[in-house]
Amino acid sequence: MGLLYLGTPLTWDEAKKHADHVRYHGITQFLHTWDRLKDRHGDELLWGDEIEYMVVSFDEAEKNAKLSLRQTEILAKLNTIVDDICADCPDEVSVPTYHPEYGRYMLESTPGSPYTGSIPDLLAVEGNMRYRRSLARQHLKPNEAPITFTSFPRLGVQGQFTEPYFDPSDAVSSHSLFLPEEITNPHARFPTLTANIRRRRGSKVAINLPLFFDTNTPRPFIDPSIPWNRNLYPEDPEAKNGAALTDHIYLDAMGFGMGCCCLQLTFQACNVSDARRMYDGLIPVGPILLALTAASPVWRGLLADVDCRWNVIAGSVDDRTEEERGLKPLDNDRFRIPKSRYDSVDLYISTDWINRPEYNDNYLPYDEAIYDRLRIHGLDDLLSKHISHLFIRDPLVIFSETINQDDCTSTDHFENLQSTNWQTLRFKPPPPNSPIGWRVEFRSMEVQITDFENAAFAVFIVLLSRAILSFNLNFYIPISKVDENMERAQRRDASASAKFYFRKEVYSLGRSGTSSVASSSGSCSPTNGAPYKKEKKLRNCFPPLPLPNGIPHTRPIDDEYEEMSMNEIINGKGDDFPGLLGLVRAYLETLDVEGEALIKIEKYLDLIKKRADGTLVTPASWIRNFIRSHPDYKHDSVVSQEINYDLMVAVDEIERGVRNAPEFLPGDYTGGDQDQGSIGL
Ligand code: ADP
Ligand code: MG
Ligand code: MG
Ligand code: MG
Ligand code: MG
Ligand code: MG
Repeated sequence: MGLLYLGTPLTWDEAKKHADHVRYHGITQFLHTWDRLKDRHGDELLWGDEIEYMVVSFDEAEKNAKLSLRQTEILAKLNTIVDDICADCPDEVSVPTYHPEYGRYMLESTPGSPYTGSIPDLLAVEGNMRYRRSLARQHLKPNEAPITFTSFPRLGVQGQFTEPYFDPSDAVSSHSLFLPEEITNPHARFPTLTANIRRRRGSKVAINLPLFFDTNTPRPFIDPSIPWNRNLYPEDPEAKNGAALTDHIYLDAMGFGMGCCCLQLTFQACNVSDARRMYDGLIPVGPILLALTAASPVWRGLLADVDCRWNVIAGSVDDRTEEERGLKPLDNDRFRIPKSRYDSVDLYISTDWINRPEYNDNYLPYDEAIYDRLRIHGLDDLLSKHISHLFIRDPLVIFSETINQDDCTSTDHFENLQSTNWQTLRFKPPPPNSPIGWRVEFRSMEVQITDFENAAFAVFIVLLSRAILSFNLNFYIPISKVDENMERAQRRDASASAKFYFRKEVYSLGRSGTSSVASSSGSCSPTNGAPYKKEKKLRNCFPPLPLPNGIPHTRPIDDEYEEMSMNEIINGKGDDFPGLLGLVRAYLETLDVEGEALIKIEKYLDLIKKRADGTLVTPASWIRNFIRSHPDYKHDSVVSQEINYDLMVAVDEIERGVRNAPEFLPGDYTGGDQDQGSIGL
């Protein structure tokens, strides 16, 4: 989440009066950044992950696993510890950073300083993640554990799911039927976001996930755990008046989405144009990696027919009014808006010739006045559309103390809008007064149960990002097809059974026209007989995309892509499509890595390979199977307190290497307490 200020947040009625002011100055601030840094060039690869945890409190006597609401205390303690470690440590040591998140049971950790492109840093990712987790674990209560679990299975059930217990009747921000106020981080930003989304929208958010029907699930399913007749907040009747659908799992608050954990990666680019190229290259990868990391099949104590969090979060912060959602004719509002502010990317933004205008085939509302202002200032069409599309939204949280800012030194108003457009990729301009350059954040993945898996996905994506830039890869497909893939990615068992649109020919110049590294054999063998020098590190600055050989685009758009299985997309199809893993391996061959180092990286790539070919299942499938084979499961879609307890115990034990899970981890996986790294990693 964005920076946290101390201050007085405005209610929605007050905040909306300042919306144009925040937008206007936000653009001014962006333009200052642009003027200063549009020609910045030569930044090295720096990159980092963000991992989110839920602190789970185990009550063995009651057989209940609950969410521990001690975030404030835990963070205070961790930050003191981190300061103490830092006092004694040599300069090069990276001490982890812990951040608050939306849920009062959540923690986020990042490496204390970003990884560089060095091979030792690549190999240190897992140790760094494990060290961060173990440091957190050491400062929890003995019956608490930091679990990397995407959606807590019993968040919002009747009965006790938090420690301590609170009643949902006190939910003054969300008016939820299920989640108490205390689920939310108490910092003013979070309750205000929650309340202002509800107020702007004009009703509570409403998410309906299709229920997974098991053999004993009643049909039709009218959820007996919804307090249909509660009469406490004005929105209480919404559930029975149509917001809660039959045969679905109904969720009515921001906490159900923003209370999920994920794995995000941020990469610094050499310059703004590489950032735009990497951003575009990773857009079609977003849904594929969502499906491959799927880890959230249970919601509010019920098994869902989906495996991922995405649509829940999208719905949980959907502040669009009825007019904006197209339910009423436009009258008070300015735009019809197809998507929530949390959703997939709407626009490719690279100016490279491989980005054919036809790929941007989504309807794209944008603020024309802002667009014009950006164009007059000299920005190109695509970046102007990108920014003016983000800026159709209203700022949701405004602090009265920070309404007037110095637009030369602050980017807070820009960040207000930027950081509440939560998309699959984020294009991050350099922050003011910092050495940080243009960055791209990859945001679709679900957090994995072990840091071995989290590291595997981080390493895979950083290598893929290098392959995209160094081999001039072209992953473009119409962006509407990427959206279709997002929907397919979330379906139950999508990784094993769905097909996804993907581009067939990924070398933008044909294979022989790419760099010598990706020669026609697809390997990195030298093509001209000269000794081939392998790179010592992951590079960041590559030559610009060469111009096309001859006529650039000969095929109709719709012939460029086809439907492929996960196995084909990752592991390749026929002689022509090497698969994402084939591309990563080809890139790996250009690096000076051998011996133990190569074996370690190969283990990560092997996880990706086996998950894609079905040898290993996704966490979502493993969780679903665990529940369906639990002795207390009645085949009625209900995940009881006891099943949840056993599941959380199992997840913690698997992470620590105390219990095997050969269905979804390689046989030689060793747990988090071994090789957990030292501070130096
Ligand atoms: P946010 O929550 O805004 O997405 P965080 O600060 O939580 O961002 O995480 C940003 C990630 O980017 C961290 O992993 C951090 O190590 C990494 N990072 C920091 N500086 C850079 C940089 N110059 N380039 C790329 N990544 C960076
Ligand atoms: Mg976060
Ligand atoms: Mg963060
Ligand atoms: Mg943040
Ligand atoms: Mg982030
Ligand atoms: Mg959607």
